[in-house]
Amino acid sequence: MTGHHGFAQQEWFEYLEGTLPPAQRAHLSAHLDSCPQCAQLLHQIRAWEQKVEEEARSLVLHVERHPYDLDRMSTEMMCRIRLDSPPALAARGMVFAEAVRLLQSVLDPLCGKGAAASAVRMAAERTGGWLDRRLSSERWPVFVRNLGEGVGAVYGVPAQLLIERVGALVAAEVE
Ligand SMILES: [Zn+2]
Repeated sequence: MTGHHGFAQQEWFEYLEGTLPPAQRAHLSAHLDSCPQCAQLLHQIRAWEQKVEEEARSLVLHVERHPYDLDRMSTEMMCRIRLDSPPALAARGMVFAEAVRLLQSVLDPLCGKGAAASAVRMAAERTGGWLDRRLSSERWPVFVRNLGEGVGAVYGVPAQLLIERVGALVAAEVE
């Protein structure tokens, strides 16, 4: 996809994440100052990320008390998240940064933001391909397994199952 006014979907998420390289960041920043459409899209993506965080938090809280509900609750969560996707992105699959964002949101309430971010980074390093920021969809299941194992080792089997389950649902969406 050519993206929005020349910016790829991946760049928007990396911009919000603060991981976009400085030159690209400056370029996108300058564009945002002069383009209301893109400024609105960024606003929608940020709102969507907050929605994802809320959904993930309530999933984690619920499943901690009712582990047998994991399949149903996570499937319903994915449906709601996709329905609330910004219109400009909804018709498309998830880019890697978007999918990672989702899994990290599930981890945040489990282990805190700092630990969640480093678990994701370690799993990505174990999987390889993090440096070019383009883990392909074939590598996604390996990434999810590595993340599940890493989290499970510290936070236990329920945390691992949660990551594997949500990771499998996301797999259907990753481009
Ligand atoms: Zn624009």
